[in-house]
Amino acid sequence: MTPCVMREVTVAPMALDRLATLLLPDRREGLAEAVARGRAALAGRRVWNVNSTAGGGGVAEMLTTMVAYSRGGGADARWLVIEGNPEFFVLTKRIHNLLHGSPGDGGPTGPAERATYEQTLGQQVEGLTSLVQPGDVVLLHDPQTAGLAGALRDHGAHVAWRCHVGTDARNAETERGWAFLEPYVRAAPATIFTRRTYVPDWMDQDSLWLIPPSIDPLSTKNRSLPPQDVVATVQRLRIMPADARVVLQVSRWDRLKDMAGVLTGFADHLGEMPEDVHLLLAGPEPAGVSDDPESAEVRGLCDEIWSSRPAADRRRLHLASLPMDDIDENAHIVNALQHHAAVVVQKSLAEGFGLTVAEAMWKERPVVASRVGGIEDQIVDGESGLLLDDPTDLDGCMRLVREVLVDAGLAARLGVAARERVRDRFLVDRHLRQYVELFEAMMSTATG
Ligand code: UDP
Repeated sequence: MTPCVMREVTVAPMALDRLATLLLPDRREGLAEAVARGRAALAGRRVWNVNSTAGGGGVAEMLTTMVAYSRGGGADARWLVIEGNPEFFVLTKRIHNLLHGSPGDGGPTGPAERATYEQTLGQQVEGLTSLVQPGDVVLLHDPQTAGLAGALRDHGAHVAWRCHVGTDARNAETERGWAFLEPYVRAAPATIFTRRTYVPDWMDQDSLWLIPPSIDPLSTKNRSLPPQDVVATVQRLRIMPADARVVLQVSRWDRLKDMAGVLTGFADHLGEMPEDVHLLLAGPEPAGVSDDPESAEVRGLCDEIWSSRPAADRRRLHLASLPMDDIDENAHIVNALQHHAAVVVQKSLAEGFGLTVAEAMWKERPVVASRVGGIEDQIVDGESGLLLDDPTDLDGCMRLVREVLVDAGLAARLGVAARERVRDRFLVDRHLRQYVELFEAMMSTATG
């Protein structure tokens, strides 16, 4: 079989000292101690992360941060991106949707799909095992890579499969998704989930880790920006008038993020919104996200909804696909937009975690988001943001958006509490400490 050339994403090390300045003193000490323990546990082993895209989603975002800080802390952390043909990515997107309880494209997950999946991943094994040494750690991310666990374990690596998606309630779709993945996931000696409710019943509890994602407060995406930089960046986009107040949703063009619902809801309630308020839906250029075949279609649907509105309304409704050829520039634009927004919305129908929520909260933005999945762990309703109980309720969503727009005191209070909530729970130091615990446990159960 021809070995498939995977791509290695080069990540420069990030020193941990600057991060430490943003942490409370006890957290600073905890981080320093974790770094020392991590070095001892890894002792010359490499840590390989394997996923299926280098940009344009939460996993890529998080890997950039985790690999950079791990390297800064002295670990030899690496990041590989697997290759696949469109058929493979249509299938893995289907599995992704199923794990969120949604039928996705409604396609099958039978023996022919299993063959496609196993064949594509089988083609990566030779390349992978020529890089990974026995004794190294391999973190496989999401359904696209689960089928690599067995081969890497047999090769002598310490393998964990990390699932970034899931839904609190089981249905026929989630069962079908998990039935497809079960044999591959069972081969992983450890698994990592974002929330306990996402874990299927058959999962071995002894090798299960619950580790929510995190953000890097110093990254291009999240560092604080001077107001003139925010204004200049937003103006350069030439999307909306400089003095408009913006209701923003930043997401991949994924059905479950419901960009179309936000657009329809906002357009239907335009008359009730203060006159200076505009809507901006921003997502990555569809061609720039290799593992997301739905995005062009979802963007197209939003364009149709936009076109169907009267010209006067369209002036206050904006759709932007942000270029992905320069990931750093993309991150800077998202950062400026999040800083600039009067309200950030995340009206997802399902959400594994929702890094866009933590990103906006860190920037002290008032966030209106669906009470689904990991968003519920981030926002304390009425304190650090506002939660929408029924994610399909467009009227309810727009009521909450308006509430924040007309009450500057409420907006400010939610924003300040949001930043503290993120500082406490969703910064990268907590995440790194949990990884060290995982590595220590992996090494202590190791036989070789
Ligand atoms: N994102 C980005 N550029 C875009 C749109 C999104 O960098 O044009 C980022 C966004 O800032 C966040 C990530 O993609 O860091 C999305 O992560 P999230 O967990 O919210 O959702 P996912 O895409 O993983 O389902």
